Amino acid sequence: MKTLNKLYYLLPLILMLTFSSCTKEDSSINIFSVDDDIAFGQQVDAEIRTNTQEFPILDSASNANAYRHLYRVRNTILASGKVYYAQRFSWKCRIIENDSVVNAFCIPGGNMYFYTGLIKLLNTEAEFAGVMAHEMAHADRRHSTDQLTKAYGLQIILGIVLGTNPSLAAEIAAGLASGLSTLAFSRSNEYEADEYAVKFLYPTEYDAENLKNFFTLLEGQAHPPTFLSTHPSPEDRLVKITEVFTSLGGVHGQTFPERYQEFKNSLP
Ligand SMILES: [Zn+2]
Repeated sequence: MKTLNKLYYLLPLILMLTFSSCTKEDSSINIFSVDDDIAFGQQVDAEIRTNTQEFPILDSASNANAYRHLYRVRNTILASGKVYYAQRFSWKCRIIENDSVVNAFCIPGGNMYFYTGLIKLLNTEAEFAGVMAHEMAHADRRHSTDQLTKAYGLQIILGIVLGTNPSLAAEIAAGLASGLSTLAFSRSNEYEADEYAVKFLYPTEYDAENLKNFFTLLEGQAHPPTFLSTHPSPEDRLVKITEVFTSLGGVHGQTFPERYQEFKNSLP
């Protein structure tokens, strides 16, 4: 019965896609329901946790201090009142132990992954909160499933929605490890994630404009970090971040460099 309902739901979309051969980059087609986001995210998370070779995740029990810092930042952002799916998504955080990778990513349903290489590069908790808020915005605005729909096309998507394509979660997890993710976002998604990151952070104790430091830090890196190859170039983004920050009132929060140093010290 559920399958039948899904098919009826999809029919108009199938017809629509048949008649539109070219899809413009930023057209928003998302046939996933919010429950699909959550269920699909759980599958991808299970694949990531199984693949310990590609994703050496720090155990939360033996690294309780590091995770306490991480979840304090997450909880502060969730308490902003600006995250639409704050209650509905699980927003689990995992740290991947690899100092040579400067990256973070989110998956549908709100789970987030932070490489130690990224955490160690930053200097303040507000910078880190900026990166986290950016990733949370991708999930909250449901960019991932939007991109998946574009990347895989209708047949594959039907397979996921109808539950006949379980191998896709593994494929997506592998793509995330290589950095050439099928979850790569469009430029407009990136701008939107920056905009919402500032909106999420502005009501909190964090300085919402501190996210800009992150891009400046990345540009100063000798080797282009993964985050830059999967995200558009920073110049325009810095301008837009300031625009949003100013439109909200332009009052600076705190940056917490000492507390962030404790976070970094708690990592192996
Ligand atoms: Zn992004």
